[in-house]
Amino acid sequence: MIVNLREILKTAEDKKIGIGAFNTPNFECLCAVLNAAETLDLPVIISHAELHEKLSPLSAIGPAMVLAAERSKVPVCVHLDHCKTMDYLEYALNLGFTGVMYDGSDLPFEENIRKTKEAVKIAAGYNCGVEGELGYLSSKESGASGSAEKSGPVYTDPDEAVLFCKETGIDALAPSFGTAHGIYKSKPILDLGRVKDIHALTGLPLVMHGGSGVSPEDYKKGIRNGLRKINYYSYMARTGAAAVKELLAKEEVTYFHDMALAAEKAMEAEVLTAMKIFADI
Ligand SMILES: [Zn+2]
Repeated sequence: MIVNLREILKTAEDKKIGIGAFNTPNFECLCAVLNAAETLDLPVIISHAELHEKLSPLSAIGPAMVLAAERSKVPVCVHLDHCKTMDYLEYALNLGFTGVMYDGSDLPFEENIRKTKEAVKIAAGYNCGVEGELGYLSSKESGASGSAEKSGPVYTDPDEAVLFCKETGIDALAPSFGTAHGIYKSKPILDLGRVKDIHALTGLPLVMHGGSGVSPEDYKKGIRNGLRKINYYSYMARTGAAAVKELLAKEEVTYFHDMALAAEKAMEAEVLTAMKIFADI
């Protein structure tokens, strides 16, 4: 069944668990994530990132995501990840998306407030929750690599977070506390005390971006400290690619569908493992 971001994060808050949010730019990812969620009987968030538009147009994958969520046996939120433009946001809302993230994290503070507020106002006419981001994470949501950047991360200031949440009226906040998008080159060092402070001060469910590659201990501590949505994609996509390489090394493959299936099954196993950690089961 399809549920909105507010409801699914309320469940996470009540149970003090984290809910996995997985990008599903193609059908194999979509099946992998929903099959894992149904096997575990856990709520899940499926996301589409604006950055993946060229790889997978929202007009093609969006309706499939909404339909799959509606037909699922478990609660599923269909979420727009890292949206930068209001037209794109409205397009997703009209498709039936039930969560949107407006990402103004690269804007000056006041500008981020103004634009995020605008996103909240647009989403108010729909059955949809809104996530905002404050602070700046390294790398981009390409799922391709953690390439070096000119500027480093900017950690979220707890007092600014309080003002940001109050002014914008968002339902969930993505703070910056040491995670990065893409593949980690070294073990990430997280400021989970900052997460605890921001959660206590804002009272909002918090979101971990760049969630893949974090240790099980850090996930668990982060969830205890208020992380409720864990974005996980890069390592899942890499696992799919590794399964295809393994298959090609093992046997002569004639048909693409055999590669797609190998990738799907490997990603499903990876999602299953991640969801178990997030739900502490
Ligand atoms: Zn992200």
